[in-house]
Amino acid sequence: MNKKIFLFSLAAIVYVAFLFAIVTVFFDQAILLRKHTFYRANVHGKVIALTFDDGPSNEWTPQILDALKEAKVKATFFALGEHVARYPEIARRVIREGHEIGNHSYNHHALIFYKTGELKKEIKDCEKAVQDATGITTRYFRPPKAWLNETEKKIINSMGYVVVLWSLNSKDWVTFDDRYIVRFIVKNVRPGDIILFHDSGGVFGVDGGDRNETVKTLPDLINKLQGMGYKFLTISELLQSNETHEGK
Ligand SMILES: [Zn+2]
Repeated sequence: MNKKIFLFSLAAIVYVAFLFAIVTVFFDQAILLRKHTFYRANVHGKVIALTFDDGPSNEWTPQILDALKEAKVKATFFALGEHVARYPEIARRVIREGHEIGNHSYNHHALIFYKTGELKKEIKDCEKAVQDATGITTRYFRPPKAWLNETEKKIINSMGYVVVLWSLNSKDWVTFDDRYIVRFIVKNVRPGDIILFHDSGGVFGVDGGDRNETVKTLPDLINKLQGMGYKFLTISELLQSNETHEGK
């Protein structure tokens, strides 16, 4: 290849990657995918749901479970099948302590869109891993990296799943100050919100990583939200109290 073309292509790739990173960090693209999904409940009372993606992690999930137990709060964990197979005891603890497990694909490999066969396999493989570990069958699916098209949503629905996104993004994977996360959520929270956190991973991976800020955020955040009168529900409880799906 001509050196000039090579350099031009390289610059173009770097530029696109940079734009993509900016969009992911500063704009929540999940907002564009809300149609035909459950991303926020239409409720009268002050109820919200905490959700944690990408776990279980043998390091961070137990600390998050400790914080939730201390505050007597239930949450929903959108687990990766691969991590459930790796840490089945932690998945069992999630269920034993009254939380819910949702399906977040088997290994989070989707770059943007899956092929139909891949999508079904990712969901089924995760479903099986959760079943093997806990005996529970997952019924809520949250797409990795929040990219889904309308055809994929229909396929997922036909498999008996509700696609669950979020209405409030803690951005805990790019925010390095727990006090900022608390302030941001307290300022923006509304009844019916589904709040996104992560219990594994970091900016460049989904296993392990550093979720220290997430762990530190929880006690203070839950305390403040309870002080504002909020109650914490699992996704199925929030779905039950939902009057009509927004977006449906
Ligand atoms: Zn994820």
